[in-house]
Amino acid sequence: MRLLLSLIACCCCAAVSANDKQIDPLISPSSKTPLSTLAGARAYGGGAVGLTTSTPPGKVPAGKEAAAKEAPAQDAKEARGASAAGARKSAEPASDPEADLSAKIAARLAAMRATQQARAAAAAANVRKAAAAKAAVAAIPPPPKVYSNVWSYEGEAGPANWAKTNPAWAKCGTGNRQSPIDIRDGMRVDLEQINFDYHPSSFNVTDNGKTVQVMVGRGNFLNVGNRMYELVQFHFHRPSEERINGKGYEMVVHLVHKDSEGRIAMLALLLERGKVQPAIQQVWNNLPLEKMETMAPAESLDPMDLLPARREYYTFMGSMTTPPCEEGVLWLVMKEPITASPAQMAFFSRLYPYNARPVQPSSGRIVKESN
Ligand SMILES: [Zn+2]
Repeated sequence: MRLLLSLIACCCCAAVSANDKQIDPLISPSSKTPLSTLAGARAYGGGAVGLTTSTPPGKVPAGKEAAAKEAPAQDAKEARGASAAGARKSAEPASDPEADLSAKIAARLAAMRATQQARAAAAAANVRKAAAAKAAVAAIPPPPKVYSNVWSYEGEAGPANWAKTNPAWAKCGTGNRQSPIDIRDGMRVDLEQINFDYHPSSFNVTDNGKTVQVMVGRGNFLNVGNRMYELVQFHFHRPSEERINGKGYEMVVHLVHKDSEGRIAMLALLLERGKVQPAIQQVWNNLPLEKMETMAPAESLDPMDLLPARREYYTFMGSMTTPPCEEGVLWLVMKEPITASPAQMAFFSRLYPYNARPVQPSSGRIVKESN
């Protein structure tokens, strides 16, 4: 129906337009509606031709006149209709089947796009939700991992695994100033004398499960490098942890000193078989019957009794030889070994046949030794 109206409107437009052009010159100055009159005359049989042949100019037969009067009205009505249809045509491009189809496709596409956008938005929301949930889970701190504090000299908890056993012991594996070392290629210099200010002191003895340890009363010092280090305790290893040019000793005594700032100086006394060592005998005499128990005798022990006659030494920087293997330890290894009797050696070996850490890489560290 719209199509039909549209076609009519187009024809009418064309007719009006043609009439405008053809009729303008014939417009009578006295006529107020020349266009519709002439158009109507033509439309109703004869028009201008009829007027010129059967009717004098200015005279129109009554019937025809009425028709002519009605015709223009009809024409004008149609023209208005056509005009309106034309306007609708320009305002409603969808009336074209192709345009209709295009519009439908466009609408369908828009709907599809909207659906896709909605789905994408929902998916993004889900991703955000999942990320938020994950972050919430991550925000909950995991329970603190409990690490073992158990270490030994052999097996799973042995020196090769100390660094892996506990993160606090990482230095045992990553440090480059670890002890003990095989002492060789020392730089011979005039090393200063170590000044010992030891004297008879109270002491107590503990078998701590790793060694026999002797705590010594306050007031025993050694002075080296213009620093005063106070003796805290001494203990034993079998065999010696240190080696001198590849040579190990049957045992070693480590005397642990600390200065006022907590720096450690470790004095190592190598032990070989020989005469009875009186200070060591005092320790053995006072060994508790049970591990982890401490015996504190009334007698006193003089650490000076442990020292060799000659005081030349090696010195280098190293570490503690048990976890956590802290570094920054000043090592002082006396060149001359001290002696203990075979019975004294056997006594310790019954408790600890092997409690020594293997030698560690020197990593290019400087070793100085007395001339
Ligand atoms: Zn030690």
